[in-house]
Amino acid sequence: MTPHLSKSRIQSGRQCEKRLWLELHGAAAARWDESAQTRLDQGTAFGELARELLGGGVLVEADHRHVREALAETAAILAKPLRGATMLFEAAFEYQNVRVRVDGFKRQAHGDTLIEVKSTTQVKPEHLWDCAIQTWVAEGAGRKIQSIQLGHIDNQFIYRREGNYRGLLILQDISTEVRALLPEIPAIVARLKTVAACPQPDIHTGPHCSQPYGCPFIDHCRAQEPAPPAYPVDLLPHAGALIQQLIAAGYHDLRKVPAAALGNAKHRRILSATKTGKPYRSIELDALLASIPFPRYYLDFETIAFVIPRWLGTRSFQQLPFQFSCHIESADGQLKHREFVDISGASPLEDFVRQLLHSIGSKGPILVWNQSFEATRLHELAERFPEHSGALHALIERMIDLLPIYRDHYYHRDMLGSWSIKAVLPTIAPDLAYDDLSITGGSAAQDAYLQAIHPDTNESERQIIRQQLLAYCCRDTLAIVRLVRPAGTR
Ligand code: SF4
Repeated sequence: MTPHLSKSRIQSGRQCEKRLWLELHGAAAARWDESAQTRLDQGTAFGELARELLGGGVLVEADHRHVREALAETAAILAKPLRGATMLFEAAFEYQNVRVRVDGFKRQAHGDTLIEVKSTTQVKPEHLWDCAIQTWVAEGAGRKIQSIQLGHIDNQFIYRREGNYRGLLILQDISTEVRALLPEIPAIVARLKTVAACPQPDIHTGPHCSQPYGCPFIDHCRAQEPAPPAYPVDLLPHAGALIQQLIAAGYHDLRKVPAAALGNAKHRRILSATKTGKPYRSIELDALLASIPFPRYYLDFETIAFVIPRWLGTRSFQQLPFQFSCHIESADGQLKHREFVDISGASPLEDFVRQLLHSIGSKGPILVWNQSFEATRLHELAERFPEHSGALHALIERMIDLLPIYRDHYYHRDMLGSWSIKAVLPTIAPDLAYDDLSITGGSAAQDAYLQAIHPDTNESERQIIRQQLLAYCCRDTLAIVRLVRPAGTR
C-alpha cells in the first residue's frame, strides 16, 4: 500500500527523492544535529504566539499521530455555522492520499484564507511550495481558498512592553505566487507516490543535501559512498565556478591539480601547502604580530539570538552578548584573565557593558578574531546605552582583527580552506584543541545558554553549565594569545 504523503514529506521529496524514500522506509538512519531541537522549540513557541497574534480561534487538538481524529475534528468544526468558528488552527485536510495541517485557516463568507506561519523574517521559495501543497489539498478536499498568506517575523519589531508582541507577526499575501505553482503539484505528487512505492533511488550526495534544509541522512548516505579525498578541490575558498571547472576536468583531489590551473595567488598557496604538507607562513607574519604594542587585550564574546524577543528593547534574531572573556598580556609576557557570564535569564546587557568597560583598560590594542562580529555588538550596545556610547566606540577604535592577517599570511593544509580559529589553532597549538571541553563551538554555547536559562534546569545543573561556558570562552581568547605569540614563547 502506498504510504500517505504529507506537506513535509513532499517537500523532502522535492529536495531529494532518496530523502523522501528514507523517511518512509529507513527513518532510523536519520541523525539531527544538536541545534535542530533548539530551532524546532523556538519555531514551535513562535507558532503558538502567532495564534494569539492572529486573534485566537479554535485549535484542532488531535496531534499528527492521530490524523483521522484531526480530520474528523476539522470537519466537525467546519460543519458548524460560520459565526461559531471563523479561525481554525492546525486544521487537517486530506486529498488523494496527501494530508496537511494548516497553521491558520480563516473562514469567511466569500472564501477561506490559508495562513502558513514561519519563524523567518521573509518569504522564501520553499514557503511558497509549502502553501501550494496545502492549497492543492484543501481545495481538493472541497474548500474554496480565497487568499493565501504567509505570517512571518517583522525584523524591525522592537519589544517595548512586557508581554506585548503586537506587530511581531507580518501577514504577507502570496496568493498570486502560490497559484502560479499549483499546476505543478499533481505531477509532483504522482511522481513522489511512485518513488515511495519503488526501491531506494540511487542518488549521490551533493549541494542538494543542504538546500533548502540540511538533510538528516547525510552520514548515512556518505557512509555508502567512496570516501572523498582528504583534500577535495571544493576546499578552495571563493572558487565556485573554478571548482566546477576542475571537477568537470576530472579533478577531485586538490593534490592532483596542476598549479597552472589556478590563477589566484591565494589558491596557489593553498595548493602548494596541500601538496607539500609544508605550511605557508609569510616572512612578514612574525614581524607584523611582534609590532602589536602592549598591553594587549584578547577579547571574545558569546551571544544568544531569540526568535521571540525576550528582553525589552531587543529584536528577533538580534545577537545579544551574555558572556565575554578577555586575556590581558603585558610586555613581560604575564597574562591576566577577566571574564563575565550571566545565565540568570534576565537581560545581561547592562552588566555586560559595565563589566567589559571595567575589565578593559583605557589604552592598548584589543585583539579579536573576525572584528565585524564584536564591533557590531559594541555598536549595538552603544546605541542602546548612550551613556556608554563614547567608551564603547573607543573600544572599537582599538580593535585589531587577526583574521585577515592570518588569511593573508598563513595556511596549513589541515585547515581545509578555513581560517576560523577552530581550524587554525590545532595547526599551531594542538595542545589547545577544544576536545577536552564540554562546549566546543559557538552554537553549542548558545544551546548551553538556553538550557541554563530554561525553567526546568535546576541550580546545580546551571552551575555546571556556567563552568562549561566559562571554560569554553576562556579557551577562545587563550587561543588568540597563542596565535599572536612568537613561536618559541607559545
Ligand atoms: S543526504 Fe543528500 S543524497 Fe542522501 S537522502 Fe539526504 S539529500 Fe538525498
